[in-house]
Amino acid sequence: MKLKDKVCIVTGAASGIGKEIALTYAREGGKVVIADMNKPAAQATADEINAGGGTAMAVAMDVTSEEQVNAAVAEVVAAYGGVDVLVSNAGIQIVHPVEEFPFADWKKMLAIHLDGAFLTTKACVPHMKASGKGGTIIYMGSVHSKEASVLKSAYVTAKHGLIGLCKTVSKEGGKFGIRANVICPGFVRTPLVDKQIPEQAAALGISEDDVIKKVMLKETVDGEFTTVQDVAEVALLFAGFNSNALTGQSLIVSHGWNMQ
Ligand code: NAD
Repeated sequence: MKLKDKVCIVTGAASGIGKEIALTYAREGGKVVIADMNKPAAQATADEINAGGGTAMAVAMDVTSEEQVNAAVAEVVAAYGGVDVLVSNAGIQIVHPVEEFPFADWKKMLAIHLDGAFLTTKACVPHMKASGKGGTIIYMGSVHSKEASVLKSAYVTAKHGLIGLCKTVSKEGGKFGIRANVICPGFVRTPLVDKQIPEQAAALGISEDDVIKKVMLKETVDGEFTTVQDVAEVALLFAGFNSNALTGQSLIVSHGWNMQ
């Protein structure tokens, strides 16, 4: 078991990629915290893990609220005694041409992706330092941490920003054994992507099938979606890697869509 008794907080773990990471960490012996603004769904995931013999708890956390993030991390430390792994994964997608992008939507996107990553990092790092064991922080980036697509100015800006945060946290955390890395998935069929398909079809004036084939998967080597399991495997690699040799990195898992 690669994560035996490690306390692993996964934000946005009530659905999609975060949920699969939580299930994977639990199978590897982690004490998993399902942190999500959707508390009933988070509780359902925690119940599923506990029923299967794993260890999990759910906490209500809107990652844009400093108060909620701090309260949830305090609840985790009280229950499990510390924090070893943070996966900052919660995210949403909003698409518009830049000149039509409502400023409120722009701010919401940056708040969830960037404020959320910052606030959860800020709340967890003191516990990683205090334990004397360090820890691992994983940011859920995207191929959009490396390149752009039309209609996604806020998402691309936020996902690029995570790489800067990751590199800085890696440098500040090095002497404490705190590592930070970014996972950059291609398109994964989750509710986040299912919502985008009709929106992009309408915005680009093409069919939903063409959005999948000619936009989302066009540049992959095989026309395939990346899966939640693919991303969870990479999240396990980063979480279980116990030296500073692997820090400050961003790893693309995208069926070759991007090879930077
Ligand atoms: P999803 O919609 O399936 O799950 C997102 C989860 O985040 C939900 O449970 C939701 O309740 C939660 N959430 C949203 N806002 C929150 C907030 N303010 N505070 C706490 N929780 C919040 O989406 P997903 O596809 O699994 O996406 C997870 C992450 O992966 C996101 O950061 C996304 O940008 C990234 N990503 C997704 C894809 C993809 O193709 N699906 C590709 C690359 C990167």
